This record gives sequence, structure tokens and C-alpha cells, in this order.
Amino acid sequence: MVKKARSNIPLSKVPIDDEVRRAAIDALESGRYILGEYTRKFEEEFSRFIGVKFGVGTSSGTSAIMLSLLALGVKPGDKIVVPSHTAFPTVSPILHVGAIPVFVDVDPETYTANPDCIRKAVSEVEGIRGIIAVHLYGHPANLDPILELAEEKGLFLLEDACQAHGAKYKGRPVGSIGHVACFSFYPSKNLTVCGDGGMVVTNDEEVAEKVRMLRDHGRREKYVHEILGYNMRFNEIQAAIGLAQLKKLNGYTERRRKIARLYAKLLDELPLKTPTEAEWAFHVYHLFVVRVRSDLRDRLREWLSQKGVETGIHYPVPCHMQPACNKYTIKTVPHSLTITESLVREIISLPIFPELRDEETEYITNCIAEFFRDL
Ligand SMILES: *Cc1c(COP(=O)(O)O)cnc(C)c1O
Repeated sequence: MVKKARSNIPLSKVPIDDEVRRAAIDALESGRYILGEYTRKFEEEFSRFIGVKFGVGTSSGTSAIMLSLLALGVKPGDKIVVPSHTAFPTVSPILHVGAIPVFVDVDPETYTANPDCIRKAVSEVEGIRGIIAVHLYGHPANLDPILELAEEKGLFLLEDACQAHGAKYKGRPVGSIGHVACFSFYPSKNLTVCGDGGMVVTNDEEVAEKVRMLRDHGRREKYVHEILGYNMRFNEIQAAIGLAQLKKLNGYTERRRKIARLYAKLLDELPLKTPTEAEWAFHVYHLFVVRVRSDLRDRLREWLSQKGVETGIHYPVPCHMQPACNKYTIKTVPHSLTITESLVREIISLPIFPELRDEETEYITNCIAEFFRDL
């Protein structure tokens, strides 16, 4: 058996400083732990950062999506257009509310949903209620044609912005463009609360109010349950940490973009494809995903692992091929998903996080160069 070197450059790492530590302790000592002042303030500051009127904290990005679908009135049997190439939690809430995903292919440059495929799906499949656009890897989806189609057909547009805090589409923050948007603050994300957490942001007061009730047992007042809700609330220590991290987000984003530029420069001559940033996009590089020939992908990963470099694959199995999905969706893939199906065999995510040093980026790219030289 080959002995693996201990991975000393992780794929991602959360930056923690004294301000974050202090925030956590302050919240700990405040005596209130759920849906208090810190949560209210985090909702207010994060929604202001995105440029929308309302923010409602939820227990995770997944629950943000599920509660949004319910608040938008999605009913069992409704169909929702969604790219197959995304994290599975984009799709599982669709199934949980009894709706049916209609999968579409992605654009081979941005890896986000192809608007032409969405249009085709909407014109060919009956019963579509809405569209979920995913700002995958931190690159915004091409929202204008999608929003135009949604408005033309009376569909909602939900932005899954779980990977794209601070990303911009034509100069506007993602999360402020669709009818509702969902963020995650899971530890690997660009903005984290050092635990699970999510937020629904919207300018639609009714949707915000509905999510607010649904996350807390369907109530507005303590003992009156107006609708059937859930416990998908937000925690105070997480909110305090989120407020501290939010102040640093723009700096972290700049750092990620700088690392991405260095990677692109150092990998330029090698036989792999680095990420593109569309001319209308401000990419926040949640992940730095490169593509290599599919027969070399796993060998390159193994090589980097031997050199102590952790890598990932986001994602190896497209959502329409997930066992958990098949029973619901087998008949709802009306088109070929050829880009998605070939993409997933070529992608590798390289380490990227604010504290990744330039020497480490150089080390990683040198290891990759060595791999291709020795081929
Ligand atoms: C992380 C993520 C989610 C789910 O967020 P959680 O907070 O982990 O529940 C949903 N969609 C995308 C694209 C994600 O990256």
C-alpha cells in the first residue's frame, strides 16, 4: 500500500481572529442563544450588504432553500428548473416539498445554468413554477435572460447564492436580482458562522414574513401556531460570529481573487483549463476549479495528495444521476446533459482560502507542472 503524505495544504480553511473569538464569547455570555439581538443585527447587516430589504436567518442554506420554496407557494407536483451540476442540497429541498426537478445543462465556460437550456425546458415541459439559478463556485449565473424568461412566463427566480457571497452580476450583488435568494454560512463558504447557518434574502415582504414564521413553528406569537412550521432557526453565537466575519468579507474576497489571478498566471502554459470570469461577472472564487483530461484527473489528484495538497471534486455525480433522485426524476430529464456529464469527469478543485500564501500557491502549481512533465 502506498503511504500517503499528510496533507498540509487543505482545500479550505476558516480564518479566525481575536474579533471572532470575542464575538463568540460575548454571545455566549449574553444569556440568549436563539433568535435574539445578534440574529436580528446579522439579518439586518447581511441584507444591507446584499442590497435587499429583508433577511431571515435559517438553520442552514438547505433550509433557506426549502423554506423559500414553501413561502413561494410551491406545491407537490410543481416542477422547478434547476441545473444538474450543483451541490445536491440545491435539489433536495425541491424533493422535500414534493416538487419535481427539471434538470438543465450548464454553460461550459461559467459552469452555471445555460439560459438557452432553461428556455427549452420551460417551453417543452408543462407545470413549471419556477427556476433555481446557482452561482456555482462563486461565479454568477447569467441572470438577465433567465429573469426575462421568468417574467415572461410568470415564474419565480430563486438564486442559490450559497457559494457566492459578494459576487456581482453586471455590478449588482447576486442575491438582489431574483425574487428570493438563499445563502449558506457553512464553514467552507466565503462567509461562515463557524457552524451551520443560512439566510433567505428578498425584497418581497410577504415571502420574508412567511419564511420567518415557517422557521419557528409557524408562529408570530409565542403560543399561536398560525401555520404548520419547522424548527429551522438561527443561533446567537453563530450570528455574532457572522457579524464579525461580515466586516472582513470584502478583504477576504480580494484575497481570493488575487490567489485566483496567481493560479491562472502560473498554470497558463499547462494542459489544463483554468476558470473564466465572464465580462459581466465579478467572481468570488468560492472554489478554484480546473479541468484536465478525464483519464488524467484521478492520477493528478493522487499525485497532489502524495505531495500534501488536498483537492476536491465539486461534484463527481451530477444531481440527475443521484440515487436519491432517480425515483422522482427519471422521466423529467427531457434533454441531454452532455456538458454536465463530461465536466464531472474532468474537474478538480484546488486549495483556495484567504490565508493561502503565495508560496503555497506556487508550490501547488509547481507540483502540477511536475506531474505533466513526468507524464
Ligand atoms: C452549501 C450549499 C448549499 C447548502 O448549504 P448548507 O448550509 O450546507 O445547507 C446549497 N447549495 C449550494 C450551491 C451550496 O454550495
